[in-house]
Amino acid sequence: MPVDRIVIENCAIATVDAQGTEHASGHVVVAGDRVESVAAGPAPRGLADVARRVDGTGHLLTPGLVNTHHHFYQWLTRGLAQDCNLFDWLTALYPTWARVDEDMVYAAALGSLAVMARGGVTTAMDHHYVFPRGAGDLLGAEIRAAREVGVRFTAARGSMDLGASDGGLPPDFAVETTDAALAATEEAVDTHHDASFGSMLQIAVAPCSPFSVTTELLRESAALARRKGVRLHTHGSETVEEEKFCHERFGTGPTAYLESAGWLGEDVWMAHCVHMSDADIAAFARTGTGVAHCPSSNARLAAGLARVPDLLAAGVPVGLGVDGTASNESGELHTELRNALLINRLGPHREKALTVRQALRLGTYGGARVLGRQDQIGSIEPGKLADLVLWKLDGLAHSTIADPVAALVLGAPAPVTLALVGGRPVVEAGRLTAVDEDAVARRARDEARRLARIAAEG
Ligand code: ZN
Repeated sequence: MPVDRIVIENCAIATVDAQGTEHASGHVVVAGDRVESVAAGPAPRGLADVARRVDGTGHLLTPGLVNTHHHFYQWLTRGLAQDCNLFDWLTALYPTWARVDEDMVYAAALGSLAVMARGGVTTAMDHHYVFPRGAGDLLGAEIRAAREVGVRFTAARGSMDLGASDGGLPPDFAVETTDAALAATEEAVDTHHDASFGSMLQIAVAPCSPFSVTTELLRESAALARRKGVRLHTHGSETVEEEKFCHERFGTGPTAYLESAGWLGEDVWMAHCVHMSDADIAAFARTGTGVAHCPSSNARLAAGLARVPDLLAAGVPVGLGVDGTASNESGELHTELRNALLINRLGPHREKALTVRQALRLGTYGGARVLGRQDQIGSIEPGKLADLVLWKLDGLAHSTIADPVAALVLGAPAPVTLALVGGRPVVEAGRLTAVDEDAVARRARDEARRLARIAAEG
């Protein structure tokens, strides 16, 4: 059975394979949903079944970007609580978030996904943890949106069951019962999780944070995920306030507390991990626990500077995360390559903190590893899925930067000429192929206004 081939040639290529192989001018052949070959020079002549030939002159081809932490629904509450730390910001926004419904989450997911895909994200993830009673099928709405935009998707079914009256941070009206959260999470896994090589949809189990869930929910969630063979995700060690909360309530820091609840392991990744001791980093490295580094969000909420160079030196898997767009209004991941490099150079490792190539690796292979999919995505290698991005670097913003990886990471956000997910075009000439950006923008604006109105009515 012949498969259609796509040939991309005459472009610089950063494969992000284990050796960091790059070609100043090379080609990739895509057959069906896989990379068939990648090498220097033009593609061999006489290839059969070539459906499309792309001239990548002036471009850099990289693996598609992999986002490892997000909250789509926050697309409707951007630009609020502008000058708050995490706990004050959460307290300001919980009452609004507790009013979201299915139409709102669908519109927010479309907006979030459209912006990311247009900026080179081929694998998205979302951590949704606000499930108001009677709000409809919120996870289903996100899944529908991801399918429409055409990106690969990890949906982390979140939960909160520790309301303020039990000593948690969220108000009681924003939390579920422990049993309801577990039952809905199990149902989400059974209904949606696809473990296949080319999977477009995976489910993770994701109680929200140490200050919004009970220890029982953490333990039972870990047991559920391991019974089902899916991954675990949560927020950890984000702020000094969280650290204080854990010491006061559990007599230990967040990492030791989460470990005691079964939450370190190769099947776990956590967002932020800013306030980590040497012992915490060693525990992550020993167990293979992954980190979603979210530099813009950490800066926006004054959370602090994650020790990314130390995490990498210890062998901890690290990917990049946009985080929710109420704490990172840009909602883009390609800008996080630059921000990760810049912010980490303000730390103790200074100019040695991260190289441009390490930044690109964090956003591609690092993310794939954090999501447990490094054998399938995250680098351009024969046999892996054809999730590829062709960045235009010969325009005004980039044409004088000779090193294409430096142009992509250090320069202005580069336009995407072509993005493929499993060989299928999701972006062509900077525009999404499957959804109308203007319609998505209008719909999201209308739902944001409806949410604001409902929240104001109380
Ligand atoms: Zn988050």
